[in-house]
Amino acid sequence: MNTPADQNAKAPVQEQHSIRAMLAAWPKIDLHRHLEGSLRLSTLAEMAQEHGVDLPSWDLEELRPYVQVMDDAPDFKGFLSKFRLLRRFYSTREAVLRVAYEAVVDAAADNIKYLELRFNPVALAKVQGFSYAEVTDWVLSATNKAQQEHDIQVRLIAQIGRDESLDVAWQVAEVAAACQDKGFVGLDLAGDEITYSAARFAEVFQWAKAQGLHITIHAGEAGPASNIREAVELLAASRIGHGVRAMEDLSVMDLLVKEKVTLEMCPTSNLQTGVVSSLGQHPVWAYQQVGIPVTINTDDPSISSTTLTDEYLVSLRNIGMPLRAIQQMILTAAEAAFLPETERKRLVEWFRQALPPLSTGALLKD
Ligand SMILES: [Zn+2]
Repeated sequence: MNTPADQNAKAPVQEQHSIRAMLAAWPKIDLHRHLEGSLRLSTLAEMAQEHGVDLPSWDLEELRPYVQVMDDAPDFKGFLSKFRLLRRFYSTREAVLRVAYEAVVDAAADNIKYLELRFNPVALAKVQGFSYAEVTDWVLSATNKAQQEHDIQVRLIAQIGRDESLDVAWQVAEVAAACQDKGFVGLDLAGDEITYSAARFAEVFQWAKAQGLHITIHAGEAGPASNIREAVELLAASRIGHGVRAMEDLSVMDLLVKEKVTLEMCPTSNLQTGVVSSLGQHPVWAYQQVGIPVTINTDDPSISSTTLTDEYLVSLRNIGMPLRAIQQMILTAAEAAFLPETERKRLVEWFRQALPPLSTGALLKD
């Protein structure tokens, strides 16, 4: 018979496996995932060889630090720089099709049942001078094929870089608005929020919202809490990418609660960009406790070498959240999905039924 001390000594390894397996089996929702940050490293190396992309190395392990955060000091611009190499791979129609298809397949393998995948059509088109409409069509056809073959529902969000011209922003918004019947549901603004203000895009986003697109804005990540207010009040955002720095302004936290603005939080990414100094300092659970709708997402699975299961595990172990809180966040994600009301209600109900009950079990923390 094991003494309590024996059990404690054995618990960590067994627990680690069983908790991971349990979280992996949960049906999940990812509302914040970038296509460009979802490129498999193995695919990257294969495509580089096929298409003769000039790489710093051909060896997979030597290549890894160029596209993944390894032991880099936390840094926002360093994190963004990983995209530079990744985006060079969208050099052919086949490459875009393959990467978009695999991004959905990988999400489905992690038991993600509803995925909103975002991408920047400008960055993808620019590599070979494709049109925004062309790359958009390719991403649509690849993600549709993947969701027909796998048990996952996918919607797309078009992303505009904060450093783009207004002219380009209008073009992207128009392409997304025109593709709503094919799977586009939202418009996003991303990039360097310290150097570039979001305010100049207000008219574009207000127009997009009037066309039926939902709005999410990266804000309060590297930039101040006031960027969150700007996104909600000027750009009609109903969701905020990250919003970690909301805590710096109580009136902004209040706004999020009152307007039910959902935060798409990504713990590992927030650590790697230096937005939080440690996972233990991550505010996701505290925000939930004060009534801000919060969700857990991956951001860039490839750059951060993570999955949504990993993010739940991090939330449990490093942030100290109980399982019940994670399940609540999955339901919050369903409630914040960029879907028509009846479909959204159906999604919430489906997740209510599908998530396993937490009333018993030695591994549960609450
Ligand atoms: Zn993001």
